[in-house]
Order: sequence, then structure tokens, then C-alpha cells
Amino acid sequence: MATPVQIKLSKRPAGIPQDDVWETTNDAPRDLADGEIALDVQYLSIDPAMRGWMRDGRSYVPPVGIGEVMRAIGAGVVTASKADGFDEGDAVVGLTGVQTHYVGPSQGFNKVFPGLAPLPTFLAGLGMPGMTAYFGLLDVGQLKDGETVLVSAAAGAVGGIVGQIAKIKGCRVIGLAGGKEKCDAVINEYGFDDCIDYKAGDVGAAIKKACPDRIDVYFDNVGGEILDAALNNIAMNGRIVVCGAISQYNEVKAPAGPANYLQLLVQRARMEGLVVFDYQKRFPEAAMQMAGWAQEGKLKFKEHVVEGIENFPDALRMLFEGRNHGKLVVKI
Ligand code: NAP
Repeated sequence: MATPVQIKLSKRPAGIPQDDVWETTNDAPRDLADGEIALDVQYLSIDPAMRGWMRDGRSYVPPVGIGEVMRAIGAGVVTASKADGFDEGDAVVGLTGVQTHYVGPSQGFNKVFPGLAPLPTFLAGLGMPGMTAYFGLLDVGQLKDGETVLVSAAAGAVGGIVGQIAKIKGCRVIGLAGGKEKCDAVINEYGFDDCIDYKAGDVGAAIKKACPDRIDVYFDNVGGEILDAALNNIAMNGRIVVCGAISQYNEVKAPAGPANYLQLLVQRARMEGLVVFDYQKRFPEAAMQMAGWAQEGKLKFKEHVVEGIENFPDALRMLFEGRNHGKLVVKI
């Protein structure tokens, strides 16, 4: 067995997590108990939510404790099993943590079929980000054919899929992304109708120009000023899907509230939050649909692979510095 590696949280960060908040250890995996599986972890999903999991405060899951292996969704192969339904050689996805070897309960792990797609795709389009896009847009956003949809972090894991699904549903889709290269990719690779480089100038004016008939659904991945600008352009009975607020995750002070929220009143619009794990029972339905679209060439999944578990700390920073192009994963 290769030397086991675990990356543990050693202190709570202020701002973007630097290298000093992590401790690397080489503990040997413990013996298996009944109901448990042992995994050779092969890929780690790098998610903005990890920043929230490091924060000590009220959330939808408890924070990662100091000295604990950092929480992460991972994909790997079963090397030993004392759990019903899991056999050596099975490929699985679940909360492995940032480590090379997982030993623990099988609960929460799902088997995946590598014949259907490469393993990292089960952390991306056919995994949590894909499910977030699908249920966020169709269930929370209540998307209707032909509507105008605005999506922030449009070149990213969730945003890129949101826009493509909206195109499949016959909508006019405008993205927001940082820089010309990302905006070009959003239009040329994902088929959005337009993309605003939010770093290039007055984002409010650019949204107004790109959405002359206003926004029916704003899929919000970033919060902050862009949310405010979207609120100012929301249509009558518009919907804002509160998926994330990455612009606020590293703020040391309290997050900025939406100053233009009274537009919800004026336009009889609504904002609704989404936690993808609430849809767990319906994941197979979405995965089938999205795999079908992918096979028909209507939906593209894009993964950005960083090699080596030792690069996890920098990979996490990549998300907050906009250095990822597509779903970010670390290959162990
Ligand atoms: P991602 O979009 O692949 O990567 C994050 C992107 O955010 C970066 O590439 C960067 O793109 C953009 N960004 C970073 N800082 C920003 C800032 N200050 N202002 C505007 N954009 C900024 O990440 P993802 O995994 O798809 O996640 C997207 C959002 O969905 C996050 O907010 C995440 O927390 C949320 N999410 C929520 C759920 C849920 O259940 N609610 C589930 C999954 C994800 P640019 O280069 O374009 O700036």
C-alpha cells in the first residue's frame, strides 16, 4: 500500500484558506468493523462549500472539527468490505474526506458504473454539481420554456450545466464570468446566448443591456453586488435561486445583504434557497436524464483535474481566485 496521507484542519481560516490551516499526517488506516468499507480514494471533489464547512457557525451540516480530516466528497474503489451491498472492486462516491484511504461506514456511499462515464464525471455533471444545477433550475427555479435566464459563475461546475439545461429547455441564457477567455468558453463550448465579463465594468448596466426583457430566473452562485444588480433587473414573477454566494465566503465581516431586495415586492418575485442534499432520493432521475442529454450531444461536462493530494490547499484557493475552468477535482 502507498503511504497513506490525510489532510486535517489545524485551525480556522480568516479569509482565503492559506497553507497554515492544514496539517498533513500519514496515519495507517484502522481495521474494518462490521458495516464498514475500505476505499482507495482516487479523486476528490473540490467545492466552494468546503469553505463553509471550515467555519464554526450555524449551517446545514456541523463544521469540520479542528484536528479532523477535512470533509470532502470523493470517488474511489472498494478494497475491502464488511458492509452489505459493497464488494471489493466496486467504484463508489461519498464523503471520503481529504485522504488517500477511507475506512468507515458504508452509509452515504453510492455505487457508480465507470462504464457509463469516467470516474471524475460522477463528482461533476453526474454528481453533486450536476444535481444542484438540475434541481436548482427546474425545481426551485420553476423554469418555463422560452424564459430569460441569468447565471453567475457560468464557466464553473454548476453554472455551466445550469445554462446548458436552460438552453435545452428553449430559454435565452446569459452568463456572467470573470474574463474574456471564460466568457468565450461559456458561449462557444456551452452554447449560452451571451456572457458578461463581470470584471470588465459596470455589471448592472451590462445586465440591463443583455436582458432588455428582464430576467425570469436568476441562478445565483455568487451573491454580493451581482445579486443586487440582478434584483434590479428581475421580471414580474421572477425567481432567484439562491444556490451560493462565493463572493462572500471569505469575508471576515458579515456578508453584504441584498440592498435591492424590495424589487422582490415590486415585481412579485421570490428568492428561494437550495441545499442539493435534500434531493438525494431523486438523484437517479436527474442522472438518467442528464446522461441521456450528454449522449445526445446536448450537454457537455468539463472537469479541471489537479494532480496530487499535496496540491489540495492550492486547489481550494483556485475556486476563490477563479483559476478553475469547469468542475475542479484533485486526482490522488
Ligand atoms: P465553480 O463555479 O466551479 O467555481 C467557483 C467560481 O466562482 C470560480 O471559478 C469563479 O469564476 C467564481 N468566483 C469566485 N470568486 C468570485 C467572486 N468574488 N465574484 C464572482 N465570482 C466569483 O464552483 P461550483 O462548485 O460550481 O459552485 C458554484 C456555487 O454553487 C458556489 O456558490 C457553491 O457554494 C454553490 N453550490 C451550492 C450547492 C447547494 O446545494 N446550494 C451545491 C453545490 C454548489 P469566475 O472566474 O467566473 O469569477
